[in-house]
Amino acid sequence: MNKIAFIGAGNMARAIIIGLVNSGITPENIIVANPSEAKRLDLSNEFGVLHTSDNIKASEFANIIVLCVKPHFIGDVCQQISQAITIEGKLFISVAAGTTVAQIQSALATEQSTSSAPVVRVMPNTPSQLGLGMSGLFASSEVTAEQKVNAEKITNAVGKSIWLDTEDKINNIIAVAGSAPAYFFLFMEAMEQQAKAYGFTDQESRMLVQQTALGSAQMVAHNSASITELRGNVTSKGGTTHAAIEQFKHDGLAAMVKNAMDAAIARAEEMA
Ligand code: NAD
Repeated sequence: MNKIAFIGAGNMARAIIIGLVNSGITPENIIVANPSEAKRLDLSNEFGVLHTSDNIKASEFANIIVLCVKPHFIGDVCQQISQAITIEGKLFISVAAGTTVAQIQSALATEQSTSSAPVVRVMPNTPSQLGLGMSGLFASSEVTAEQKVNAEKITNAVGKSIWLDTEDKINNIIAVAGSAPAYFFLFMEAMEQQAKAYGFTDQESRMLVQQTALGSAQMVAHNSASITELRGNVTSKGGTTHAAIEQFKHDGLAAMVKNAMDAAIARAEEMA
């Protein structure tokens, strides 16, 4: 039976814990460690998970340690754990953006260690909170097949996931999925603003945009046709949708999307 420790009980830990508990993992097999008692109690009262202020206690309890602190705390947390307990047999999963496997392994290394710790890097996104996340995973060479299955179970509890064959593709995942909810929000924001300009109330504008986005995403999810075909099906030549799409093309939407995604990758590379 896997025992899972979350080091850091913030937004991402909460999203994953909701998914794990909903997927049937026994809460008593999950422990959260956080300096803030309020945050720990929040999760413990809501989901029945164990809690502690002590990262070492939590890491001793678990065979899977999920590092859910901000990237600048990862080094200290890893050193604190590896100095206090034997990390052999434990899998480390990091959700920290911009912190590499090598950096985590180096922080976990001690004078006694003979090999590097198995580390899986995960890049999730915020819809994980609703069980609709999209994650990319990269495993260091030390991660066993069984540990890969366990890591995947965790990310699949909050949505879907794909394995990456090289670590640098984590930055591509950031561009395509990690940062991407905000692209859709930006588009929806612009549509909502325009709906208001056409005289719809705030409430109507929100509902018009929200329901249309939801319906369109569901059509993609429930249809085997390509996204291009789906668009074609609702774009009669000479019609209103055609007029709008032609305007988007004329204004360079595809280039804008490419440039924005390239900018996300460039920023991720700078932050690494
Ligand atoms: P958060 O600030 O909500 O949570 C982090 C928690 O860690 C806080 O509650 C803080 O009190 C706690 N903490 C700080 N120092 C600690 C320590 N030494 N030991 C134990 N706990 C400590 O942040 P978050 O949004 O949950 O992000 C956590 C990680 O997830 C980050 O590394 C971030 O890059 C990554 N991530 C987040 C998202 C997202 O959408 N939120 C997406 C992808 C990746």
